[in-house]
Amino acid sequence: MDVYESALDLIGGTPLVRIRSAGAAAVYAKLEYLSVGGSAKDRIGRRMIEQAEKDGLLGPGGTVVEATSGNTGVGLALVAAEKGYRTVLVVSDRVSREKVDTLRAFGAEVVVKPSNRPREHPDHPMRFAAHLAETTPGGWLANQYDNPANPEAHYLTTGPEIWRQTHGRVTHLVSCIGTGGTISGAGRYLKEVSGSAVQVIGADPASSVYAGGDGRPYFIEAAGHFVHPDTAQDVWPTSYQRDVVDRVVPVADRQALDTLRQLARTQGLLVGGSSGTALAAAHQVAAGAGADAVVVVVLPDSGRQYLSKYFNDAWMLGLGFLDGDASGARVADAVTEDSRTSPLPYLTTRTTVGEALAALRARAGAGADAVLPAGPCPTSSDRRPMAPELTGSVTLAALESALHDGTAAPSDPLADHLEPPLLAFGYGEPAEDAVGRLAGHTHSTAVVLRDGCAEALITSSALRAALPTRH
Ligand code: PMP
Repeated sequence: MDVYESALDLIGGTPLVRIRSAGAAAVYAKLEYLSVGGSAKDRIGRRMIEQAEKDGLLGPGGTVVEATSGNTGVGLALVAAEKGYRTVLVVSDRVSREKVDTLRAFGAEVVVKPSNRPREHPDHPMRFAAHLAETTPGGWLANQYDNPANPEAHYLTTGPEIWRQTHGRVTHLVSCIGTGGTISGAGRYLKEVSGSAVQVIGADPASSVYAGGDGRPYFIEAAGHFVHPDTAQDVWPTSYQRDVVDRVVPVADRQALDTLRQLARTQGLLVGGSSGTALAAAHQVAAGAGADAVVVVVLPDSGRQYLSKYFNDAWMLGLGFLDGDASGARVADAVTEDSRTSPLPYLTTRTTVGEALAALRARAGAGADAVLPAGPCPTSSDRRPMAPELTGSVTLAALESALHDGTAAPSDPLADHLEPPLLAFGYGEPAEDAVGRLAGHTHSTAVVLRDGCAEALITSSALRAALPTRH
């Protein structure tokens, strides 16, 4: 019979499919979403669990624990389910609803923790998972970031599959870097088997630190490395073996999103955000390579778990990732050239009330609303805050009255006197919608977002002025 004995036999073994690309080089995508659990992480779920069994760390009645953005959770949960282990997964609240529901469907228990905690905080998913594994009898922490079985899974399966499938003709491997397991394991294998002829190229969200970014937030889930501003010391996973990687290409979120939306519409392949990042980098690599080049890009998961984000026009428009309908008045039409080109005034929660007052008074003098967004990150004139960093706001009136009442002192950190964040609109949203939403809000000033980043401040009167006059 042409059958498989268990789900474990359907892990990996994913096909390569040709992707149309501008250059002469051939680009082949490794479709990891065709693995049984829907991602590249099935491979490491199996390998990490089986290695732990061999090492005597996991046995009958045991509990698998991990902090995971979702896919590793599925990989672990499906292997654990098949083998009869309990699974507890800790995820951050940035992870999409669909992913959490999927984990629960496999019988895993899911604990959701806030995403805006530094790594040292006991509620940081990784810290919390480690504590849980220690305090649960029979608990074992998979620890994909620092578990040698993670890159090893790709060394033993992904790399050899690519070599076999291309009959040894692969010249470039392109992969995202999250834990670094995929690129390190598959990359090391391909380097070894080709006598170092295969180039190994990382693809990274533009603000992630792997490609040299400053670690600020980005919108591509599960790839790259974000650094919380209060992190004392940033630690890179040991699953990422940098010596294997020849270079890392930064890819802006917008480019990644355009690439993956385009891929679904023109080539019938529905893939996730990190696949968009990887594929955009692969197109760049292919454009600079010769006609004999065979570029293999790993696409880690399916777009189905991101339908409410990357494939949802309202989500894209709200963050300023789409141009919107240019035939009507858009938020962008109400942004003055002045506010677009001058740096956005932005207060960090670490500035003092006295400093905030000075900034607000300067703006009030210029005739603008005396309200500013505030958040945790320091910014500079070329570093505008990203949407997730807009965590609060301050107004001149509120601060002045707090000083007057004695409930605030000029030396207080601003963090103690924050009001709710300003509303934010994508630049392509209809101006009329923005006017309506702003009308019900405390502040008549809002933030305009472009590519997920605060571009300018806007007032309700400017928005109304941009609307066509009705006769
Ligand atoms: N993309 C997706 C969708 C993932 O789940 C992961 C793993 N977190 C990655 C990319 C990165 O892969 P790796 O951890 O092997 O570097």
